[in-house]
Amino acid sequence: MQTTTAPLTLELLGTATSQGVPVIACDCPVCRSTDPRDKRLRASALLSAGNKNMVVDTGPDFRQQMLRARVGSIEGVIITHEHNDHTAGLDDIRPFCFKQEMDIPVYCLPRVAADLRERFAYAFTDYPGVPRLDIREVNFGDTISFAGHEIEVVEVTHGTLPIIGLCTRDLAYLTDVKFLPARTQVQCRNKEAVVISSLNHGGTHSHLSLDEALAYLSELKAKRGVLTHFSHTMGRAADINPTLPRGVEMGFDGLVLPE
Ligand SMILES: [Zn+2]
Ligand SMILES: [Zn+2]
Ligand SMILES: [Zn+2]
Repeated sequence: MQTTTAPLTLELLGTATSQGVPVIACDCPVCRSTDPRDKRLRASALLSAGNKNMVVDTGPDFRQQMLRARVGSIEGVIITHEHNDHTAGLDDIRPFCFKQEMDIPVYCLPRVAADLRERFAYAFTDYPGVPRLDIREVNFGDTISFAGHEIEVVEVTHGTLPIIGLCTRDLAYLTDVKFLPARTQVQCRNKEAVVISSLNHGGTHSHLSLDEALAYLSELKAKRGVLTHFSHTMGRAADINPTLPRGVEMGFDGLVLPE
C-alpha cells in the first residue's frame, strides 16, 4: 500500500525583530502605518502538512500566533536559538500539552536546551499545570522527521552565535542571520523559496542589512526570496517592495509558501 504524504507549507507567523512592529510608543511612519503588512509580530513560522503542524520559535507573541493561525495541535516546536524574541512564549504550549495529553517535543541545540532548562526551570518540576517539554537535542546536519518530510538542521551564524536554520526539499528558513557558512550555502542553494532575515538598511553585528540579505539571496539562486525579521527602520512594505529585485519581497505575517 502506498502512503501519501501531504504537501508541506511554511507560513510566516511573525516577521518582526525583537520589539515587534509597531514599536511601543513610536510615532514613526512605519509604526503609524495602517497597512496590515506593516503590523508584525515577533519572528516565527509554522510548517504544516495536512493537519500536522510544527512551530518554529515561540516568541512573546506565540499565543496570539497560535490563535490567529487556528492551530489545533502541534507535533513539536523547533527553537532556532535562545534569544528572548524566539523563546519567551514557550510557556503557552501548555494548552497543547493538556489537549494532546503529552509532553511536547522541543528540538534545539544542546546549548539552547541548557538555556531553556534554566529559563523555564519550573517546567522541569512536578508542579501541576506546568508546560511539559520533551527536549530533543539536535545538531547541525541532523534531520527532523515531520509528517513524512525531512527537515534539515543547517548552521547559521548570528553575530558570534551558531544557530539553527531549516531546509526542506524546496524551502529554506533562515532567521537572525549575519553569516551563512559555505556548507549552509550549498544546502540552501536552488530552492523554490528562501526566507532570510534582513533587519534594516544598516544591519548590526548580529543581523544582515537589506543589501547583505539580497547578496545572499542571489548567491543562493532562490527562485523566490522572502525577507523577514524587520526593524521598523526597514520602512513600509508599500515603499520597500517596489525597490527590491525581481523575485524578492518583504514577508508579512500570514504569508504562506508552498513547497
Ligand atoms: Zn517606529
Ligand atoms: Zn537572535
Ligand atoms: Zn530574533
